[in-house]
Amino acid sequence: MIAKVEPLTPARALRGPFDYLLAGALEGVGVGAMLVVPFGSRRLLGVVVEVAERSDLPPERLAEPLAALEADVPAELVRLGLWVAQEYVTTPARGLALVLPPGTGTGAGRRMAARRSLSASITEAGRRALEGGVRLGERQRAALESLREQPRRVSALARDTGCDHGGLRRLEKRGLVALEQALEESRRPVLRGVGAGAAVTGMTRAQEEALEEVVRRMDAREERDRRLLLRGVTGSGKTEVYLRAVAAALRRGRSAIVLVPEIALTPQTASRFVERFGDSVAVLHSRLSARERYDEWSRLRSGEARVCVGPRSAVFAPLTELGLIVVDEEHDGSYKQEGDPRYDARHVAERRAEACGAVLLAGSATPRPESVLRYERVELRERIDSRSKGGTAPLCNAPGGLPPVELVGMAGVSGPLHQRTRDALDEVRRRKEKAIVLLNRRGWSNYLSCAECGRVWECPNCDVTLVLHRAAGRMSCHHCGHAEPVPRSCPDCGSMSVSRRGLGTEQLGAELERLVAPLPVFRLDADTAPGGGIDRTLQRFDSAPAGVLVGTQMVAKGHDFPDVTLGVVLDADATLRFPDFRADERTFALVAQLAGRSGRGSRGGKVVVQALDPDARALRHAAEHDSEGFVAGELERRAALGYPPYGNLIRVVCSSGEPGPETAAAEAVRRLIDAPGVAVLGPAPLFRLKGRHRAQLVVKAADRSAGIAAVRSAVESVSSSAEHRGASYAVDVDPQ
Ligand code: ADP
Ligand code: ZN
Ligand code: ZN
Repeated sequence: MIAKVEPLTPARALRGPFDYLLAGALEGVGVGAMLVVPFGSRRLLGVVVEVAERSDLPPERLAEPLAALEADVPAELVRLGLWVAQEYVTTPARGLALVLPPGTGTGAGRRMAARRSLSASITEAGRRALEGGVRLGERQRAALESLREQPRRVSALARDTGCDHGGLRRLEKRGLVALEQALEESRRPVLRGVGAGAAVTGMTRAQEEALEEVVRRMDAREERDRRLLLRGVTGSGKTEVYLRAVAAALRRGRSAIVLVPEIALTPQTASRFVERFGDSVAVLHSRLSARERYDEWSRLRSGEARVCVGPRSAVFAPLTELGLIVVDEEHDGSYKQEGDPRYDARHVAERRAEACGAVLLAGSATPRPESVLRYERVELRERIDSRSKGGTAPLCNAPGGLPPVELVGMAGVSGPLHQRTRDALDEVRRRKEKAIVLLNRRGWSNYLSCAECGRVWECPNCDVTLVLHRAAGRMSCHHCGHAEPVPRSCPDCGSMSVSRRGLGTEQLGAELERLVAPLPVFRLDADTAPGGGIDRTLQRFDSAPAGVLVGTQMVAKGHDFPDVTLGVVLDADATLRFPDFRADERTFALVAQLAGRSGRGSRGGKVVVQALDPDARALRHAAEHDSEGFVAGELERRAALGYPPYGNLIRVVCSSGEPGPETAAAEAVRRLIDAPGVAVLGPAPLFRLKGRHRAQLVVKAADRSAGIAAVRSAVESVSSSAEHRGASYAVDVDPQ
């Protein structure tokens, strides 16, 4: 048989698949096997993408693979990885890297990572060999001695005895040791110290109905649309529906994937799955070590774990018999990957669910217009806690037990806080309650400028202002990480009056500390929360009897504090000032999500939203908790403009170190995109980023695959031409 092998190399020029002859021990390998193959004078790791009867190459030119790795990938995932490569205009290797065991990606040197999880044990023959008579190398003897008491990991054995993988393989050949994939390693708990809340005994009528819809789709035999949108505010019981839907899948012998935005921000959700399903859950947490990540992958691959909870990459979990994919908080921007391949896990989830006949269940309080238009829908209209109080929530006057939202205009107001906001915060202080304050801008000041000559401090690599971080004593660029000391005087005119403009979360935190003292203020943003800081901050806020949580959009994500009585959003229309057709959608979601965090407890709650223009459509709808009305207006606007979901957008960014080539390359790509129903806007200059000059094209296509194909061929042809060698290219399908 012939294996068609796609090499896993970052080199764009090396395009497989290449044919290899399967013989001997490797005769039986199938699609998804990972092979080490000779390639010229090199060895490469590759994935079998097809097994065929014959090759177009003459037999004498066919080489045999050198070895097969222990790990392999389900054939369904190989197809999915290749589809991602097509759909997001990247190489097969990069698409396949997404579905491979962690650590096997396209990077050289990591290709043998899969072996590290091998464990070795001594055989009876091995024990006899130690007793005498058999010729053994010094290291091999040491390894056998070390295995006398118990089986050990191959990597640890190599470290202690010097007998490496090759040496162990030779012992295996002689029947003295047995090597096998180690799966039963003690698992470190991946989520610590997070209470998952009480288990729920009954379901509400609305929850029952939602679950029935899911199960009906799961059991449907005929080809049909299995996508479902679950709309319901925070606290309406969506997670409970997901849990029961997963249980239903497991009862049918099927597996399930639960996608969540970011586990560090939503530890409660993940731990509820662990609590409910125990060891059959694998959680892919961003803070797992490479080893833990590989172990979780292996547990999924072996079928020991049948449920995978994780962020966007979990959509590629190596599960078989998939019955359900849940996308929690489906509006969340983190489902889109920023780097190549720029895939959207929601779109991949649709594809995978369809290929597997699985149900796709997307949930949100603020679903995307795309999902509202395209998916069938079920609703949870009320919060569980308002319902359990007999449907009357005296301090709430909005529908479904949601808090009232007040919009206040900031035009002409001096200082960062409106009087209404100050009053509301003062009330929290007096009554010793809790508040969440959102400002989507970190640092102390947005920018520094010279009061004399007007100089503004900018990043030397990017055309953006440097942000002052006072505690760190630095000014830094939020795009490339460049940092420099805070200036005492202006280098242009020598003036000492350098003023700080624009308010960030650091300064706001200090201001709030003065305002609500002695209540504590907890700050949550990318500066305070590198790595492990996030859940610690959230836990401290949760366990404090009173206080204020202040931060960037992180504070509006999926976590769940029952006793918050005030939510505040500052500069809510800042996002609207970006030239982006999703600006309204993003603003609406941010405000509505924060509003959903307030007023869950018996004391009720309210929300104050500060904006320059409090009349903005997105804000008015958010204040009325009117996701329905907002989406209806949004769909109308998009239909008129041919924007998603009525059309497809593809962004092409050309960049170069010197000014000039990027624009020339973009012009060339533009000229080559020539297909009916495909329109190109640009090139337009983008701000310089990390020292790269950039030019952008926006491609609008009524037909998705026609648009993608046109862009692919234009970019491939320009990028391989000698004339445009100075530029690099990034293609982003469905840019966010
Ligand atoms: P969401 O995911 O929409 O935010 P959850 O499923 O987390 O909502 O439910 C909110 C709270 O209500 C949780 O504490 C949950 O345990 C509880 N809950 C959910 N369903 C019920 C129910 N049917 N009866 C009582 N409590 C419930
Ligand atoms: Zn100056
Ligand atoms: Zn920069």
